[in-house]
Amino acid sequence: MTTYRITLLPGDGIGPEITAVARRLLEAVSASHGFSLSFDEQPVGGAAIDACGVPLPERTLEACRQSDAVLLAAIGGPRYDGLPREQRPESGLLALRAGLGLFANLRPVKIIPALAGASSLKPEVIEGVDLMVVRELTGGVYFGTPKGRVEAGGHVRAFNTMAYSDYEIDRIAKVAFQLATERRGRLCSVDKANVLDVSQLWRDRVTAMAADYPAVELSHLYVDNAAMQLVRWPKQFDVLLTSNLFGDILSDEAAMLTGSIGMLPSASLGSDGPGLFEPVHGSAPDIAGQDVANPMAMVLSAAMLLRVGLQRPEAADALERAVDQVLAAGCRTADLIGEAGLAAGCTRLGCAAIGERLLEAL
Ligand code: NAD
Repeated sequence: MTTYRITLLPGDGIGPEITAVARRLLEAVSASHGFSLSFDEQPVGGAAIDACGVPLPERTLEACRQSDAVLLAAIGGPRYDGLPREQRPESGLLALRAGLGLFANLRPVKIIPALAGASSLKPEVIEGVDLMVVRELTGGVYFGTPKGRVEAGGHVRAFNTMAYSDYEIDRIAKVAFQLATERRGRLCSVDKANVLDVSQLWRDRVTAMAADYPAVELSHLYVDNAAMQLVRWPKQFDVLLTSNLFGDILSDEAAMLTGSIGMLPSASLGSDGPGLFEPVHGSAPDIAGQDVANPMAMVLSAAMLLRVGLQRPEAADALERAVDQVLAAGCRTADLIGEAGLAAGCTRLGCAAIGERLLEAL
């Protein structure tokens, strides 16, 4: 029987609670689909600062490198906010992405019918939305140099550099074209080519690559228009390709189409080596340890791990079906229930109880 090595990174805040749910489900679904998983739990973020003094210990990174896939919950918390930037939990996450060479961030946004009422947009606008944001993760203005802060002439000036090389654009564009091929064949590349030189290169490279993918219909949008179109008529999108900064903003906007950040998974991939699978949300310190967190984004991240990381689509389908079933049965965590859910007779459950229902549904 094939055994896959999974590094589990529970991290901080609600991380350990939602990791426990995902782990039990992964154990159950692997057993029923003829493969096994061996888990190696390692500290990252604030938990690693407490245990080892650094947000990404060398042994955590090494364990991730040696595994077939990595499942991360979330990092961060107010206790660490006063630390210098490079010692904070968030630096551990950036170092992990860099250490694994993860340049492509995939965020699916799919409306679950039972939750259509949770969105702040009208049902006719969001029903049937099924899109994927592909964000470049290791380049652009977050990493460009020179950057810094200088004092001159009695003023303080701070600056960053937004830069992309042709190969960085090509490798992320390839991921997006391939995904579009496997999906509905439509790719929209988002840039600011009317103003930024770096965006013009982005557009030139993406346009050139389209010749290799004749089955994909390529379009381009300026980022300001894309932000509007996402809330005006999100159904027009299949795959959205963006740079690091624009993708950071647009993927959060797209995330809110579903109405809850507690439902959204993501995957980060490199050229080779293990992918990193994690919910879009953070460590939610305001609700940590109260057994009220929604574990579904974590469970759906585990499903992406099975589908994309281990090529086990049947097991991924089973997990996703379990989520659909539990929601269709009216089970909701606090973040999802709202006035409408209560009026519709939905049942409010905690994190562990939702985990039990998911196991039963499996
Ligand atoms: P957050 O996503 O942690 O929380 C935002 C709001 O959403 C909070 O009210 C929280 O209670 C709620 N929420 C989030 N996930 C939920 C879930 N699964 N179930 C129910 N409610 C949920 O974002 P924030 O408050 O801006 O950040 C908190 C900490 O998380 C910070 O330290 C931040 O740096 C960190 N963070 C980490 C990641 C990551 O690990 N990838 C991402 C974003 C933020």
